[in-house]
Amino acid sequence: MHPEPQFRSPLPLQCDALVLGAGPAGLCAALNLVRGGAGSVVLLDRRDPWREPVACAEAVRRVPFREVSPLLVDPWIRGPVDHCLFASEHASFLWTTPGDGYIIDRARMHRDLSVACAEAGVACHFRARATSIGPLRGDRRAVEVEVDGIRHQIHARCVVEATGPGKGLERENLADGAEDLETAAFTLVDGLSFDPTAIQLWYSRRFAPGGYAWLFPSGTDRANVGVVCARGEAISSREGLKLFLEHLQPGLQPGQVWGGAIPCGSGGGELARDMLFKSGDAASMVNGLSRSGIVEAMEAGTLAATHALAALKASSPGARARLYRSYRWKWFVKRGLSYRLTMWIKPWFGSIQDAQWDTLLSRLSRRPSTGHTWPHTIWEVLRILPSTLGNRRRRL
Ligand SMILES: Cc1cc2nc3c(=O)[nH]c(=O)nc-3n(C[C@H](O)[C@H](O)[C@H](O)COP(=O)(O)OP(=O)(O)OC[C@H]3O[C@@H](n4cnc5c(N)ncnc54)[C@H](O)[C@@H]3O)c2cc1C
Repeated sequence: MHPEPQFRSPLPLQCDALVLGAGPAGLCAALNLVRGGAGSVVLLDRRDPWREPVACAEAVRRVPFREVSPLLVDPWIRGPVDHCLFASEHASFLWTTPGDGYIIDRARMHRDLSVACAEAGVACHFRARATSIGPLRGDRRAVEVEVDGIRHQIHARCVVEATGPGKGLERENLADGAEDLETAAFTLVDGLSFDPTAIQLWYSRRFAPGGYAWLFPSGTDRANVGVVCARGEAISSREGLKLFLEHLQPGLQPGQVWGGAIPCGSGGGELARDMLFKSGDAASMVNGLSRSGIVEAMEAGTLAATHALAALKASSPGARARLYRSYRWKWFVKRGLSYRLTMWIKPWFGSIQDAQWDTLLSRLSRRPSTGHTWPHTIWEVLRILPSTLGNRRRRL
């Protein structure tokens, strides 16, 4: 029989590794640290990490998700994603790639990873908010933590900061998740008709300027419908969501709306210094175009753990400095470089006008859904490119 895991174990005042934030990045970091023999590992989150019934749109690519997950992913799968419908207001095309992705149940994933952390010996302390990270003094950093209104200080040899989007707690100018922060809004809708094996991505300057709207299955009868607009556009994502719902079905009103911020900076800049490692949204390790960040956070947390483990064992400041650079370099090779390129084309992508989307998607729809290839898609994009080049200038 498994003993009930403890999520409010006594708060230690000293530890080898302290992980702040139990999202995908922090959970993977903590589990990899303890499994790798980091010594005493503490994981904190300001709330129970599985509290939200649906944390986001919950879509992931199958292969990298399976590769990076420290546990078997099958119990978390709500359904497969076999198709992607790209739509504008007057055209659409379906891209079929069987088995390419999953819609997952993130609350369940967070819960199972938390249980695995606790069972592996991580001191999990949820509903504990970190308020500041002190500088490295001697071989430790002091992290201030608030639990039930009472302040504590934990002295840690190494800190993984994975508190999600925003500036985070560190003051040392490492890569930060405030870069290109966009807000997204979504709601759950019952009774719409849709293919439960397809995700839908909609492009329209009317309801999702500079970004996109989505309709993802969330089970067979329920759709996760949301909008992310680029920064500085005339409407907010919440306003866009209302317009999108109206477009999907006249009279359709949002029920409870969830929202969140998405940093889209690709994880450039320094990621670690003085035994502080940043990872996931906190370091902007997100695909700026698709705005996906779950697998990225899991990969980043795993990479941070590998490097933190080695740094804990390193004998000199020089060896540790090489590990900070190696963390940054490994991320750059894995995703950072390609995500930098997506950031480069993002302003152009966001400026494409609705009529241009209609043209592109109707041309692409001439091929059968299984006949799409990247070279053909890029060719069709190049065909509309000349007409889009004046878009940004026209908007200024
Ligand atoms: C609306 C929306 C839809 C999305 N859809 C998708 C999608 O379909 N697919 C995809 O791949 N990505 C999606 N994303 C992005 C994805 O959710 C994030 O990239 C991912 O959650 C990042 O993981 P993380 O561990 O870095 O941060 P988070 O998941 O944000 O976790 C950070 C954790 O830190 C905790 N925390 C914060 N501050 C403190 C503090 N001071 N002290 C203690 N704990 C703290 C938080 O409570 C939280 O549990 C979406 C994002 C949004 C907003």
